[in-house]
Amino acid sequence: MAFDFDLFVIGAGSGGVRAARFAAGFGARVAVAESRYLGGTCVNVGCVPKKLLVYGAHYSEDFEQASGFGWNAGQPTFDWPALIANKNREIERLNGIYRNLLVNSGVTLMEGHARIQDPHTVEINGKAYSAAHILVATGGWPQVPDIPGKEHAITSNEAFFLKELPRRVLVVGGGYIAVEFASIFNGMGAQTTQAYRGPLFLRGFDQGVREHLRDELVKKGIDLRFDTDVARIDKRADGTLAATFKDGSVIETDCVFYATGRRPMLDNLGLENTAVKFKKDGFIEVDDEYRTAEPSILAIGDVIGRVPLTPVALAEGMAVARRLFRPEEYRKVDYKLIPTAVFSLPNIGTVGMTTEEAREAGHEVKLFESRFRPMKLTLTESQEKTLMKLIVDARTDRVLGVHMVGPDAGEIVQGIAIALKAGATKQVFDDTIGIHPTAAEEFVTLR
Ligand code: FAD
Ligand code: NDP
Repeated sequence: MAFDFDLFVIGAGSGGVRAARFAAGFGARVAVAESRYLGGTCVNVGCVPKKLLVYGAHYSEDFEQASGFGWNAGQPTFDWPALIANKNREIERLNGIYRNLLVNSGVTLMEGHARIQDPHTVEINGKAYSAAHILVATGGWPQVPDIPGKEHAITSNEAFFLKELPRRVLVVGGGYIAVEFASIFNGMGAQTTQAYRGPLFLRGFDQGVREHLRDELVKKGIDLRFDTDVARIDKRADGTLAATFKDGSVIETDCVFYATGRRPMLDNLGLENTAVKFKKDGFIEVDDEYRTAEPSILAIGDVIGRVPLTPVALAEGMAVARRLFRPEEYRKVDYKLIPTAVFSLPNIGTVGMTTEEAREAGHEVKLFESRFRPMKLTLTESQEKTLMKLIVDARTDRVLGVHMVGPDAGEIVQGIAIALKAGATKQVFDDTIGIHPTAAEEFVTLR
């Protein structure tokens, strides 16, 4: 049977664009549908604008610290609408780049909501197209628990477009987004409270890292509240929001920001017209080559709920394109040792096992740790401390995990992740000559 396309990709986000471009480059006839914004979550309401806001938030500290180096910058003022307008301009530029990338690689771009009619047919803008393979790369969407007054809360989707910086913000959640936005709002000058239901945020990260970040965020003035959760939100006549916690205490605030995880984006996608199956948590079930239970339908990225990070979606998109259209170059995605950063202020950078994971896995663990005041801060009043930590298997000397809390942690740990992938031992770290004076050199001088 002749199909209109070899591959129909639904969603032009991180994973979808990568799969579509490379499949087209391998000679396949490819269409991609996008209902909202080219580049998906990462480019429009995720990694990119988030990182720009983090840079913006750090200036408050930069101005303060500058005086230690002899600069007198006067009393700085901050213009939120200017930052958002500049950010929007940059995102529009990136949207254009994504459009060109797709069109120039020969992909047919269709803008509109795509719906699967049957295992080989996608309907978009009133027309039906047949395809040998359909790739679902529709990403995720913020989810807010069902509490009275949830309509008064915003999520990351709205935070990027706030007309003004709220004077007071309550951030709810203890994952990546909550921690990053608490730092953003606090850095911009908003009075920031973060509430998390568990005893300590960033569940799954190294305990020492979590405690270190907690202490640093408290020093920076964030009001951290653990073991608590919001029961209801009420809006007062003057627009003030009152968030009532489960213990009955109330916080008055101007903005309640929820970052309590993301659900798969499956709205009106038509998967009920297929044999696609779902995991218990609602994400699409796939095998290790991204095949769903419906032979012609594949799925990658956040919608499969495996590792919701852009570089992982990119790798999965690449793997699908290769397996289908360039099988001789196909390699499975390696999910081991995925490095990651949390762009809180200060940043976390991490790769490999946490101390707790290493112990649970039965390793005899040797820990190397350093806490120090970064050189850049020595002429300033900042008391911020950097944490660097190596987790080593005492029997094999293999480095199992590397963790950092401090400026540029993501930049530093990305390089170290390569060493861990190559199987570096502590001896290899020790034999490596440092770059002086840097913070990163601590990783090769830990004894
Ligand atoms: P997405 O990028 O979400 O793309 C899915 C696309 O599908 C969207 O454009 C959507 O409009 C479209 N779509 C959905 N349904 C349909 C339909 N029926 N028809 C047509 N189109 C449809 N990751 C990092 O690695 N580093 C970070 O710093 C980072 N920061 C983040 C910050 C925030 C605030 C958020 C929310 C996420 C962040 N992430 C980060 C995660 C990252 O954005 C995602 O892992 C990544 O975007 C997933 O890519 P994807 O291709 O699966 O989906
Ligand atoms: P996460 O899954 O990281 O965190 C969700 C948080 O919300 C957890 O603290 C969770 O608590 C809490 N939570 C979940 N449900 C409820 C509830 N019903 N009531 C109260 N609290 C709740 O999700 P995020 O939304 O922060 O981010 C989504 C993903 O996007 C991340 O996991 C990450 O992969 C990616 N991302 C990556 C970034 C980066 O690379 N820098 C930045 C931002 C996002 P508990 O731990 O107790 O379950």
